[in-house]
Amino acid sequence: MNSISQTPVRLRIFHTNHSLPRSVSKPSFFFSLPSSPSHCNSTTPQVRRIVVASMSYDKQLDAAKKSASLAARLCQKVQKALLKSDVQSKSDKSPVTVADYGSQAIVSLILEKELPSVSFSLVAEEDSGDLRKEESKETLHRITELVNETLAGDGMSDISPLSEEDILIAIDKGKSEGGPHGQHWVLDPIDGTKGFLRGDQYAIALALLDEGKVVLGVLACPNLPLGSVACHDQHNPESKVGCLFFAQVDAGTYIQSLDGSSTTKVLVSPTDNPEEASFFESFEAAHSMHDLSSMIARKLGVKAPPVRIDSQAKYGALSRGDGAIYLRFPHKGYREKIWDHAAGYIVVAEAGGIATDAGGNPLDFSRGRYLDLDTGIIVTNQKLMPSLLKAVQESIKEKASSL
Ligand code: AMP
Ligand code: MG
Repeated sequence: MNSISQTPVRLRIFHTNHSLPRSVSKPSFFFSLPSSPSHCNSTTPQVRRIVVASMSYDKQLDAAKKSASLAARLCQKVQKALLKSDVQSKSDKSPVTVADYGSQAIVSLILEKELPSVSFSLVAEEDSGDLRKEESKETLHRITELVNETLAGDGMSDISPLSEEDILIAIDKGKSEGGPHGQHWVLDPIDGTKGFLRGDQYAIALALLDEGKVVLGVLACPNLPLGSVACHDQHNPESKVGCLFFAQVDAGTYIQSLDGSSTTKVLVSPTDNPEEASFFESFEAAHSMHDLSSMIARKLGVKAPPVRIDSQAKYGALSRGDGAIYLRFPHKGYREKIWDHAAGYIVVAEAGGIATDAGGNPLDFSRGRYLDLDTGIIVTNQKLMPSLLKAVQESIKEKASSL
């Protein structure tokens, strides 16, 4: 039996005289029934009962949350040690390398353990090529130690201790090409490596594609405040950090603290007034054109200065209304990868938001490892999208003509 035929189905009934609700996305299948025999009252518009049977990905979501949380624990351990170290070793990139590979190994191992399937497919950022080189011996040893410690610390000693070869194999499970058919996990083991090294924001971003669509997403953001980023005081010990966002298609977006608090449903900002809207963009100017976003913000009437944070933590923050807009405009020639957006995309969409390319086209995660767009990505709520899109297109034209 393949993994799709094992997936339970959820039935939902909508009473409507219109077409399907916006939130109902494919692959759902549905049938409609008259709510009462048509001869009962021929003068009132006929209300149809639409029975929607959508896939439930509860089991996959549980495994995704578990693996991303554990990977986050490994990363936190490495970042803590890094921040305690002296200035010289801070310029060394090896801590992020260890955490990156370790995170990918943990997610790969846990997903396979929790969801055994012959068709397991993982599209992930790292592969073991460099790690197999002689000069990486010590790094591989450290990664293996860390993964074993982290798994044993969570009572998963049934899959540990793992050998160095086990770790390399687990990392290389991430070589899948993805695509439009079947189910594929999509992982960025540390999104925002620059933020990780600085001691700022980063995320473990994990999503599942089913027939080319994102059907669930998890964002573990170890340094993101549990309250709004706008009100966070990092010097106040009461201000807690560590968020786990998760979303499943047609089931909403939720947040938990990474140490496992109760779950809260989140929604994007409802504002339709750009003057009240703040916007997110990359911390790194090399990752997104800050001059273009400031032009767009001005045109739209946004008053607040940009909120610059690393990684898909931006999608998480937007999904709970910390800000209303996220603008990402990589410099010419950069190719977006699916693992940099898949989890964030569904976290925002299920919270009522929308992410498109700069031309307003939906993001297509079905084409393999790349998103293949070169215009940028914009994210906001449904009400602001038309005016944002107009400001984006005018600004892009203006910037091009000024060159
Ligand atoms: P952010 O933290 O939002 O700036 O985005 C982080 C992601 O940007 C990383 O995971 C990288 O994959 C990606 N990235 C790396 N180099 C570039 C680049 N030159 N332009 C845009 N994005 C990049
Ligand atoms: Mg990334």
